[in-house]
Amino acid sequence: MSIKDNLEEINRSIEKLKKDLSIDRDITLIAVSKTVDSKRVLEAYECGQIDFGENKVQEITKKYEEINNEEISLHMIGHLQTNKVKYLINKVKLIQSLDRKSLLKELEKRGRANNSTFNCLIELNLAKEETKTGLHEESLEDLLNEVEKCEFVKVKGLMTVAPFLEDLEEVRVYFKQMKQIYDKLSKREFKNISMEILSMGMSHDYKIAIEEGSNMVRIGTSIFGKRNYN
Ligand SMILES: *Cc1c(COP(=O)(O)O)cnc(C)c1O
Repeated sequence: MSIKDNLEEINRSIEKLKKDLSIDRDITLIAVSKTVDSKRVLEAYECGQIDFGENKVQEITKKYEEINNEEISLHMIGHLQTNKVKYLINKVKLIQSLDRKSLLKELEKRGRANNSTFNCLIELNLAKEETKTGLHEESLEDLLNEVEKCEFVKVKGLMTVAPFLEDLEEVRVYFKQMKQIYDKLSKREFKNISMEILSMGMSHDYKIAIEEGSNMVRIGTSIFGKRNYN
């Protein structure tokens, strides 16, 4: 199937879910274009896709130059090394992988030096999977505290990559927990922190993520096909 067909199918299925579940919130689709070349990113853009997710700084800077289109938004969704933060200034709409104090400090420092604000999501690793990045829940309050002291970092919500499990009902548990944390934080008053985005759901689990309250899904394989890492 073509990128166009795939995008139409996903958008249709999101609309159907919204209708079936009487959801009236907007749901943003992030097309995850890691390993996908700029030509195909532009092909998706021609079909109306605006937001794209990348997990490598080098790929973001390369595509940013190649794509050269202000209407397209890039999202950093992968592990971000502190020494690479400087390359992202004014290039990404959202850093979805804020997961530690050292990264927050670097974002604040680079933001200040360039008088430029970083909008971020805090990435949580609720299952504490060792192979994955993301903050453990017990460290969340501490990071929120630090964000309140910043001037050039704003937190707009939460992100998670759920464990890859065959049984989607087991995955659902993590999405439910994310929504609970999100709702709890929504009720509190913070400086620099607002709960606007709950980014969860990928190709295989986005439907249950939406059922559990996601308003941003990140889909790669179902749009661009299987990734080729060579
Ligand atoms: C690769 C990736 C996705 C997309 O995964 P698919 O299974 O291809 O849809 C979503 N989120 C993150 C953080 C990713 O790294």
